[in-house]
Amino acid sequence: TSISSYRRARRRQSLFSEQHEFRPIVLRSDEVVCGVTGLIGNTPLVRIDSLSDALGVEILGKAEFLNPGGSVKDRVALRIIEDAERQGLLHPHTGSRIFEGTVGSTGISIATIAKARQIPQAVEPISRFLAIIMPDDVAQEKVNALLALGADVQRVRPASIVDKKQYVNIARRAAIEFGRSDIMKGLEDARANHELHTGSASVVVTTTSSHINAEGTIDDPLDEDLLSKPRGFFADQFENRSNFEAHYNGSGPEIWRQTNSHVDAFVSGAGTGGTIAGIGQFLKSMNEEVQVVLADPEGSGLYNKVRYGVMYDRKEAEGTKRRHQVDTVVEGIGINRMTNNIDLAVPIIDDAFRITDVEAVAMSRYLVQNDGLFLGSSSACNLVACIKFVKKRGWRDGQTLVTILCDSGNRHYSKVSAWYLGRADVP
Ligand code: PMP
Repeated sequence: TSISSYRRARRRQSLFSEQHEFRPIVLRSDEVVCGVTGLIGNTPLVRIDSLSDALGVEILGKAEFLNPGGSVKDRVALRIIEDAERQGLLHPHTGSRIFEGTVGSTGISIATIAKARQIPQAVEPISRFLAIIMPDDVAQEKVNALLALGADVQRVRPASIVDKKQYVNIARRAAIEFGRSDIMKGLEDARANHELHTGSASVVVTTTSSHINAEGTIDDPLDEDLLSKPRGFFADQFENRSNFEAHYNGSGPEIWRQTNSHVDAFVSGAGTGGTIAGIGQFLKSMNEEVQVVLADPEGSGLYNKVRYGVMYDRKEAEGTKRRHQVDTVVEGIGINRMTNNIDLAVPIIDDAFRITDVEAVAMSRYLVQNDGLFLGSSSACNLVACIKFVKKRGWRDGQTLVTILCDSGNRHYSKVSAWYLGRADVP
């Protein structure tokens, strides 16, 4: 039964690693939940009928577009904020300003949760609680949502990660510079005295050296002096392990339970890598036979990293445009550098497929027409990869593939749907 397999899974989980909690899973029901954050996670798995019937396998999509902030990133934003609050890096009783570099979804999720938790806005003269830095080629729908939620949005030209004007670099720097003056001086003194090792998880502007321990967290978050100070918090989804944990302890176990422990393959794209690393590692910890499959869009170097061990090999480098140089239709997935979360993903990926914008757009249109599913472009990429993988393996005996339906097509209308409806000139 699912209960005994769940118990088995639980036992196995505790053997696997003690540092991960295994939360009981409560599927959405007619219960009343507390506030918007109560709606996050526990999303259903939906069978994609058209593709499953055509291929003779079960293709199941985790309906992450049903999260209140509209995407899979709600899970990550909630975990990042909860962990930061637990560590005293973000405190509800003082002015805080959150900074993040994002192509949109994570920003919308952070904004939603910060509002729901009433993380108060920073003290004057800074008026907003959240600063989002994003590339200027992302769909306008995401910018509109961020503005409606009250975030400050700065849009910058897409750039390489080695460029200090790259959006993640700007966000990190802005968090550090926020509230400079005496707070920053304390931080710098602490660094100089080797009292602060800025963890890869976060760059935090907080207080004087006496409050910061060797892990870079605060010893006494309730200190009066500390509470009176505004701070900047860099959410840092690319490097922050809370991203991985949200999936390892949330969506991963949910999928295992929902499929009654029967998963043959998990297929996902990677933007920060949190989803594929967290869910992939969890499923493999339950059954090492589960195949973890990467769906990689044009311009991303991950496919090469998985196949050849390098992001760009010499032969290819000349003719290949990197993701920040490509006018991309698919948003949210694809990356050209290693991050903490990508590091956790690469070793467990069994197979990888390159998906073109044309394939993703064709799939988006197919799903609307055949299933009434209006999905975003990264979900479409995932489903194209499901088909490629099934065909490559010659599967047609009812094997179960699980993938992520990251967000809705509403957020991508101006790019994806406008293209297939012939209303926009998209490459
Ligand atoms: N799809 C969309 C729409 C996204 O915004 C993101 C995150 N950037 C992803 C997929 C990829 O998820 P992850 O960051 O966990 O790799």
